[in-house]
Amino acid sequence: MKKSAIFILLMSILVPAVIFAQSAEDLKKDATTPGDVLTYGMGYNQQRFSPLTRINRKTVKRLVPAWAYSMTNNLGEEAQALVKDGVIYITDHDKTVAVDALTGKEIWKAIVEYPPETTRVVCCGIVNRGGALFDGKFYRTTLDAQVIALDSKTGKEVWRAKSGDPSEGYSMTVAPLIVDGVVIVGVSGAEFGVRGYIEGYNASTGERLWRLYTVPAPGEPGAETWAGDSMKTGGGSAWITGSYDPELDLVFWGTGNPAPWNPLGRKGDNLYTNSILAFKPKTGAVVWSYQMTPNDPFDYDGVNELILADLKFDGAVHKVILQANRNGFLYVVERATGKLLAAHKFVKVNWADHIDLSTGRPVWSAETKAVLDQGAKVNIWPSAFGGKNWEPMAFNPLASLVYINAVNVGWEYEPWPMDQVSKLKVGQLFWGVKFKAITEDPNRRGDLKAINPITGQTKWELPLKSPNMAGTLVTAGGLVFTGQLTGEFMAIDSESGKLLWQF
Ligand code: CA
Ligand code: CA
Repeated sequence: MKKSAIFILLMSILVPAVIFAQSAEDLKKDATTPGDVLTYGMGYNQQRFSPLTRINRKTVKRLVPAWAYSMTNNLGEEAQALVKDGVIYITDHDKTVAVDALTGKEIWKAIVEYPPETTRVVCCGIVNRGGALFDGKFYRTTLDAQVIALDSKTGKEVWRAKSGDPSEGYSMTVAPLIVDGVVIVGVSGAEFGVRGYIEGYNASTGERLWRLYTVPAPGEPGAETWAGDSMKTGGGSAWITGSYDPELDLVFWGTGNPAPWNPLGRKGDNLYTNSILAFKPKTGAVVWSYQMTPNDPFDYDGVNELILADLKFDGAVHKVILQANRNGFLYVVERATGKLLAAHKFVKVNWADHIDLSTGRPVWSAETKAVLDQGAKVNIWPSAFGGKNWEPMAFNPLASLVYINAVNVGWEYEPWPMDQVSKLKVGQLFWGVKFKAITEDPNRRGDLKAINPITGQTKWELPLKSPNMAGTLVTAGGLVFTGQLTGEFMAIDSESGKLLWQF
């Protein structure tokens, strides 16, 4: 009797802590614990792969909606939900909500307030991309460039840190990455002439631990890759969550385009824009970097998700990073060193003929040379929209395939003359180019594709009138889930590409 009484008492003390606290170890094994989703990308490797099989090719046709919860938001939902102990956590630009996963009943709602003028310094959508769970708290960023921590049980604010000033073009939409008690975030604002950065905060206190600028200050290493003082407004935002390899203790984070899009006033490689930065989570110290698109004229933000995978080829297992870049190439990069192993076109590409595997650099096409040398008007594929935009792809470790919502859109492009480039003012939207979208087949502006990242071969493709702007999720049940612009939620056979179900 006595023993069980103590047991019950202990349970009543311990259970809340067990339920609501997520440890650093829980986050590390998130991808292999399908009972919850604690991290952006469903695991530090961001594979967006579920090992669950009960919903499969045979049973998927029985899926029906169980409930609906309105986010009362008509500005777009780009957030990934997190799930812990039967509670779904989701964000948008002006609120965070916790909802009972079985019933759809709201548990709490926390409103995010920001000055209305903030929306003038947000380039491409009044959105938020999701949160992070750790140690009983829910972390997120705000449009006016703040990082906040909420009590995950009540939604009450625990701390708030001001990162950037929206009047200088800084905003935040990124979902944080939490590694060993460090909350890691990146800024948006490359279309407003910001100097991009990634930061680490103490998860308990909100104290800023480090800031890693993605663009050097004058006189710093890498400044020689920018003409004159052009790095001062150099862009290099960092608006998609990085991935993490616990064995190497390295975070991998993509950086965005140089500012302005017009390249005439910033000759040089423009380091470290459009790059992958590999750094230590505790300090932000960079271990290696690899630049995909040097001196980019085309807004090829290289921020897209960096999937960590172990791939067998050439008789060995390679620990790699996979990225389907806005510039239309699917990259395979060695995790420990940043060495380029493969780069294949996954859509129509004419800005570069190919990527030189010995140097890792693109071989520019005649069109790109004409832009950089003479400011010429050209037709370029893909457009700034990208061969794939920010919406994440998924990786299936059972088949070594990635599933990409690809975009078949190019653009007619012309940089403004040099004397106009100086009109860039920090905090104001400025591209410095003229452009118009072009398509080859108006009935096929996108494809959902299953691609082998090593060979670049397409296993199957599902043509779409409008490109899907949703991410993909793949399951061991043989399904790829995604969504269409027209509102359909779809399940596709991961082997054949056949549409099996939609709602
Ligand atoms: Ca999990
Ligand atoms: Ca951009």
